[in-house]
Amino acid sequence: MNQTSQNSSKQKIVIVGGGTAGWLSAAIIAAKHKVADGECGLDITLVESSDIPTVGVGEGTWPTMRNTLKDIGLSEKEVFKRCSAAFKQGGKFVNWVAGNNDYYYHPFTVPLGYGRVEMAPYVDNIAEFANATNFQQHVCEHNMAPRTLSEEEYSSAQSNYAYHLDAGAFADQLREFSKSTLGVKHTVATVLSVQSNGTNNIESITLDNGECLSADLFIDCSGFKSLLLGETLQEPLVSTDDVLFNNSALALHVPYEGDYEIKPYTQATAQEAGWIWDIGLASRRGVGHVYSTNFISDDKAETLLRNYVGDQAGELSARVIRFNSGYRKNIWKGNVVGIGLAAGFVEPLEATALMLIEISARFVAEQMPLPNAAMPIVSQRFNKQMQYRWQRIIDFLKLHYIFNQRSEDYWVANRNPATIPDSLKEDLEIWKYRGPQIADFSAAIELFPAASYQYVLYGMGFSPDFSLQSHFYNERDLATKVIQQNQLITQQKLSSLPNHRDYIAQWLAS
Ligand SMILES: Cc1cc2nc3c(=O)[nH]c(=O)nc-3n(C[C@H](O)[C@H](O)[C@H](O)COP(=O)(O)OP(=O)(O)OC[C@H]3O[C@@H](n4cnc5c(N)ncnc54)[C@H](O)[C@@H]3O)c2cc1C
Repeated sequence: MNQTSQNSSKQKIVIVGGGTAGWLSAAIIAAKHKVADGECGLDITLVESSDIPTVGVGEGTWPTMRNTLKDIGLSEKEVFKRCSAAFKQGGKFVNWVAGNNDYYYHPFTVPLGYGRVEMAPYVDNIAEFANATNFQQHVCEHNMAPRTLSEEEYSSAQSNYAYHLDAGAFADQLREFSKSTLGVKHTVATVLSVQSNGTNNIESITLDNGECLSADLFIDCSGFKSLLLGETLQEPLVSTDDVLFNNSALALHVPYEGDYEIKPYTQATAQEAGWIWDIGLASRRGVGHVYSTNFISDDKAETLLRNYVGDQAGELSARVIRFNSGYRKNIWKGNVVGIGLAAGFVEPLEATALMLIEISARFVAEQMPLPNAAMPIVSQRFNKQMQYRWQRIIDFLKLHYIFNQRSEDYWVANRNPATIPDSLKEDLEIWKYRGPQIADFSAAIELFPAASYQYVLYGMGFSPDFSLQSHFYNERDLATKVIQQNQLITQQKLSSLPNHRDYIAQWLAS
C-alpha cells in the first residue's frame, strides 16, 4: 500500500476514463460499498479527460443490465426517460444464411421445456426452432413490449428483456448518480504521465491540472488506448483477427419519421463484408455498419449503410470507428485492472461488451477492500475466468458465420475451417449428432446458455443427426405437448401485451 492510501482508512480506487465503462464500474463498485447516501466505504475517484471523446456507441445491452441498474439504485423509469431507452427482447439475424431475406431469432427467453425435454428432434423444420419453442419471436415481430402497464418496473415475469439506450446519456446519468448518491469523486483532467515501480504496479498518475493521484487499485477504463494496462504495463492484445474479420464500423443516428414502430429487438442484417446493426431507441434509431476493410473499402461500406437506411440517410454524417479485434490475456495485472475497451473488444454482434463491464466491475466490487498480499491471487483467478469468457464469446460469435451459404469472398472466408477455433470445432463435432445441450455449458461462469447456441445453430439450419442416439426420440408425447403449449402461450401474449411504442409513452407519462 502506498503512502497516500496508508494515511486513509479507506482503500483507494482511481478509475481512468469516463465512458460507459468508467461510470458503470464506478457506480457498481460504489453501490456495493454504499454506507449512506453520498457516502462510500471505499475512496473512489474517477478521472476523465474533456479533450478525449468517448467512443460514443454501445447501445444494446444484455438482460443482466436489469439487475445491475436495480443494484446501483436507479429507477428503471428514470433510465428510460434520461436515456431514451427501449426494450430489447433478443436479436434478429437477417440474411445470414443465404442472403435471400432469410432470418432467424436469438430471443432472450429459453425454449419452452428447456431442461425437461430436448425439443430439436421434434421440430419439423429445424430453422423454425425458435418459432416452435418460444413465444418471444412472435412478440418481437409484432413490435410488442415485454410487459403490461399493471406490472412493476423491472418486472420480467412475462418476458426476459434487456435495453437499447443512448450511450452518452447513460454515462451522464451514471455520472450524476454516482457523484450525488454514491459518493464517487470526479476529476476532469487528462492523465499526462503514469508512474510505475517497474514491477507491474502503478504508483501514481499525473494529471494536466498538476495533481498526482495514487491508489491501491487503478481501473483502466481509458478505451482503446488502454493507457495503464496496454501502454504502461505493456500487456499485449491477443488478436482475434484471424477468426473475426471485422475491424471497422460506421455509425449513424437516424430520426424516426411518420407513423413508426420501435423494434423491441436488435436487428443485424448481413452485408457483402459485414453486417448492419439497427437499434431502436424511443427517440431515434442507432444504425451502424460493422465491416472488414480487408474485403471492402470505407466508401463501399458507407454506400451500403446509406442504402440500408434509405432516404433518411440524406444529410446524416457517418463516423468511422476503427478497432483491433482482441483481448488482453492478463486483464488484471499488478494493481491495475482493465475494464471496457481497455481490456479488449470484439465486434458487437451479441452486445457482449457492456455485459463484460458489468461482470468485471461486480468482481472488483466483491473483492474490495483487498489486502496487498491477496491481490496476486485474486487477479490470477479473475484473469482465468475472463480468458475462459473471452474464448466462449469468440466461439459464439464465430458460430454465427460458419454455416452461411453466401457467395461473397468475406462469407466464403468465414467458413474456411482454418478460421474456426479448435474449441468450437470440438463442440461442433459432438453437436453433429446431438445438438448443444445444457451439460456442455456447466461452468458457473458461463455466459451463453445452451439455448443461445441452439437458437443460432438451428436458426441457420444446422440439423443434427439425432438418429445416432435414438433415445432422443423417446419423448414425442411430451414434446408435442410443449409445442401446443407454446402455441397457446404465444396467442395469450399476442392478445395481452401492449404495443412497444405505446407502452413506453404511456408508462413514462404515468
Ligand atoms: C461500433 C461499436 C458498436 C458497439 N456496440 C455495442 C453494443 O451494442 N453493446 C455493447 O455492449 N457494447 C457495444 N460496443 C462497445 C461499447 O461501446 C463499449 O464497451 C463501451 O462504450 C465502453 O467504452 P469505454 O468506456 O471502455 O471507452 P470510451 O467510451 O472510449 O471511454 C474512454 C474514456 O477514457 C478517457 N481517457 C482516455 N485517455 C485519457 C487520459 N489520458 N486521461 C484521462 N482520460 C482519458 C476518455 O476521455 C473517455 O472518457 C460497441 C463498440 C463499438 C466500437
